[in-house]
Amino acid sequence: MTESIRKSDEEWKRQLTPEQYAVTRQRGTEPAFSGAYYHHTATGAYHCICCGASLFLSRDKFESGTGWPSFTQPAKADALDTTPDYSHGMTRVEVTCRRCQAHLGHVFGDGPPSTGQRFCINSLALDFRETAGE
Ligand SMILES: [Zn+2]
Repeated sequence: MTESIRKSDEEWKRQLTPEQYAVTRQRGTEPAFSGAYYHHTATGAYHCICCGASLFLSRDKFESGTGWPSFTQPAKADALDTTPDYSHGMTRVEVTCRRCQAHLGHVFGDGPPSTGQRFCINSLALDFRETAGE
């Protein structure tokens, strides 16, 4: 069971930077190659910038060439929700944090083995925490 976190827009605005708010609460997308974590290779976990839930692990991160941090799978199967997204004239699958409904990015079916999935995630939605000795 994942407890859910709900806050008002005003509360999120106070907690987040304007850029983080635009991505996570207004389903924005950071410019390609602009994110802090695109070339990030340290060992650890990527947490939700809004609620701190552990979302992705560095061992699942790969270089996709797209300009956004990309992962083959979530840290835990129940960390994320996926929803069909037909905005901007495209058919995509939106990825959100299950605990707080933050918009994170999209998932595509053209990832590398073994999952074949590519979670294309905004750096602005993530908070990296290093783990020592792993
Ligand atoms: Zn969250």
